[in-house]
Amino acid sequence: MNKKVIFGILGLMAIAIVGVIWSQIRLIQSATLVNTERFEKSIFSALNEVVTKLELDEEKDLFLSSMSQKYPNSNVPTFNPFGSKEKEKNLENRIKMDYLDGILKEELAIRGINSQIPSYRYHYGIYGFEKGSFIILDGEKFNYEEGKENVLPEYVNTGDENTAFRVNVFPRERPVPGELRIFFPNKNAIILRSLGKTLSATLFFAGIILLCFGYTLYIIFTQKKLSEMKTDFINNMTHEFKTPIATISLAADSLNNPSVLKNEDKILRFSRIIKQENIRMHKQVEKVLQMALLEKKDFNLKWSSINMHDLILAAIENISLQVEAREGSVQGFLNAASPVINGDQTHLSNIINNLLDNATKYSPQKPHITVFTRNVDKGLEIIVKDEGIGLGRDVRKFIFDKFYRVPTGNIHNVKGFGLGLSYVKTMVEAHKGKIDVRSELGKGSSFILFFPLH
Ligand code: ADP
Repeated sequence: MNKKVIFGILGLMAIAIVGVIWSQIRLIQSATLVNTERFEKSIFSALNEVVTKLELDEEKDLFLSSMSQKYPNSNVPTFNPFGSKEKEKNLENRIKMDYLDGILKEELAIRGINSQIPSYRYHYGIYGFEKGSFIILDGEKFNYEEGKENVLPEYVNTGDENTAFRVNVFPRERPVPGELRIFFPNKNAIILRSLGKTLSATLFFAGIILLCFGYTLYIIFTQKKLSEMKTDFINNMTHEFKTPIATISLAADSLNNPSVLKNEDKILRFSRIIKQENIRMHKQVEKVLQMALLEKKDFNLKWSSINMHDLILAAIENISLQVEAREGSVQGFLNAASPVINGDQTHLSNIINNLLDNATKYSPQKPHITVFTRNVDKGLEIIVKDEGIGLGRDVRKFIFDKFYRVPTGNIHNVKGFGLGLSYVKTMVEAHKGKIDVRSELGKGSSFILFFPLH
């Protein structure tokens, strides 16, 4: 797909997701407002109801007490807490604490506010204007002492306007004697609780959408990178094939030349060139095959007993021309007493060849390569060591990834497709072995292979 289209779609998706989340946030905000308002309304209506009941209760008491004074011998129950027909002056004596506690609880419960639920726990008090302090707090008399503000419970001191609600008691009297105040220290939690399901559903679904979006982005970009790498690979490959094909064609043409045909030296030279180029092409084909194989993950190994020492010696022989041409050295210290493992000859020699190839490629000066073998617990260990550019700690974990190459510009300028090591690792693992790398930037690398003995 065209880059622009992809980015267009991604952009639209991003905008849509941001839009959905934004509108959800707005919805939740307005729901919060509505719920806050609803909550406050029910508190105020409960408080008003309580205040009205307090008034009624007092009036009833006054009425009863005046009746009992008029008809002292009647049957009317005589409940006269104040002993007078006149209204009691003292606010704290006008309010029956048990009664207040009961009706408050009841009125709140009617409105769905159950003080048993932790976030609905509340405190209340009667504040007397004359005294300038609370006179009742949470159903008990409260004696305010001058200069001892700190004896007030914390929720009263810190109870900001948002958590405190107040309504005048005996509001028709002038001056108004006091206030009924109620505090909900967990008011925010209450509102959140009321939004609970909507909020968690929103978070849950938004989370899913974001995760999927992220994952889609990840897939798109890795796929894109992979397909770019494959295109690169094919381009490089074609290029790599064209050169030997052209060379072979030239050499073949030359061989047809009558003047060349008479000259044995020239014939030998051209046939050598053809052979060399043929080997080169063979290597390239091998690479393509390796890649195709990695794609398929279906290796179809041809198992047999393989003497790894023979295989290593052949590989050393193969690479030595190249290494010696650069005035380097390649040596084998093959110390394993039992070098025979079970495996696929072709792939095992590809593994060693790839590692030796890399050791040469990534040694910018004269390559000095050593191959060690030894027997370790139930297995054979092979180490391919070079003194080349080495690998930094940050890239070491990626080198076995398909198509991964250490960012070329700054470190090296060697041709490759980033497939060799991923092939090596896949194959080593297909042989139930392990591969590890020890390396230091600038000092060289050691690739350590382990194969189990059968
Ligand atoms: P490439 O085709 O690039 O060589 P490989 O899969 O063989 O791909 O290697 C991956 C990367 O690991 C290489 O690009 C190189 O940067 C790094 N690398 C591999 N072998 C060596 C080594 N012996 N020394 C330093 N770097 C190495």
